[in-house]
Amino acid sequence: MSIDTARDGIGTQLAHLGRPAQAGARTVVNPPVMRASTVLFPSVADMEADAATPYDGLHYGRQGTQTTFALEEAAAALDGAYRAIALPSGLAAISVAVLGYLAAGDHMLVVDSAYGPTRRLADLFLKRFGVETTYYAPGVGAGIAELFRPNTKVIYTESPGSLTFELSDIAAITAVAKARGIATVMDNTWATPLFFKPLDHGVDIAIQAATKYVVGHSDAMMGLVSCTRAAWPKAREAAGLLGYHAGPDECALALRGLRTMEIRLRRHQDSALIVADWLAARPEVRRVLHPARPDHPDHALFTRDFLGSSGLFGVVIDPVTKPQLAAMLDGLRLFGMGYSWGGFESLIIAPNPHKLRTASPWTEPGQLLRLHIGLEDPADLIADLDAGFARLHAAA
Ligand SMILES: *Cc1c(COP(=O)(O)O)cnc(C)c1O
Repeated sequence: MSIDTARDGIGTQLAHLGRPAQAGARTVVNPPVMRASTVLFPSVADMEADAATPYDGLHYGRQGTQTTFALEEAAAALDGAYRAIALPSGLAAISVAVLGYLAAGDHMLVVDSAYGPTRRLADLFLKRFGVETTYYAPGVGAGIAELFRPNTKVIYTESPGSLTFELSDIAAITAVAKARGIATVMDNTWATPLFFKPLDHGVDIAIQAATKYVVGHSDAMMGLVSCTRAAWPKAREAAGLLGYHAGPDECALALRGLRTMEIRLRRHQDSALIVADWLAARPEVRRVLHPARPDHPDHALFTRDFLGSSGLFGVVIDPVTKPQLAAMLDGLRLFGMGYSWGGFESLIIAPNPHKLRTASPWTEPGQLLRLHIGLEDPADLIADLDAGFARLHAAA
């Protein structure tokens, strides 16, 4: 059995990637979960040979086992990457991707709408080691070149941005970055490689919080780093030096998630658009922040670059009091309140992006709500939100 990513459809790829051949004529469908710390070498010669290529095949549990390698192989194929690395969380993937490139005295450019913990990594941690970060507006495009300094080593992008869902022109950014030898890293958690392929747009390293749509069932943490041939040694070394390890059980859950990822994502996409349309017609809603909708300011970029949309979007509703917000959200029957997203269940949070932005202030006076539309029936989700708005008014 072999998969041709140039020819086979995405459903076929997801069903067959990451299923290495097993010894013997009869095999099980899924690669076994191989738990390990110690790996035994048959000879001194083999141990010496292994030292030259510690990241090829079994070496020591920390670098993974056949279960890890199967997931990494599938992730690399989906992204059109040279190789991928499985890591214990999405945030670990982000840190590995940038740390591979950065040293004291370097400068990094980060999109202003980046995932909050990415900003904290830059502002509270990398800063301590002499790495300076400048934030840029998501719509910067090729104008990012004006922010380049002689010591700029990394551009970090995320599109759409967390919470506020602005898109960035990734091809424009990577074109000017390449001309200056600056590496680009993209957080592609929202679109996943099914709907956007960062490496095809010139990105050097694509990361995913596989905790979200790859795992898809809210029961495991996982990060994936997909690298070009040039980027791989840097990221692999950073992951190795930091001692990051993705557990084999989590890798198996991520592989299981991949099998159904296309049908889940299409359902998330369709239901999210149904709920977003309903919200757009509500009197309480000022703006819907969903790039697949024609009323989104970056919709042209969306249709140019993306093959689809996922289940996560925002709405800005009229300003509300705390008791009104609590009355709406506390009483929801189906939407849960909690971090993360990408699972089968719907979620809602009321974040405040104002305090996260520094380069392009978020001036929207209304209340932002971020929704993740799960796999429930959209009519039930709409009824839940409808009742929520009624409680919000009653609490006025
Ligand atoms: C959740 C998330 C992450 C971090 O993933 P974890 O697995 O929770 O560490 C990174 N980027 C984005 C956009 C996310 O939503």
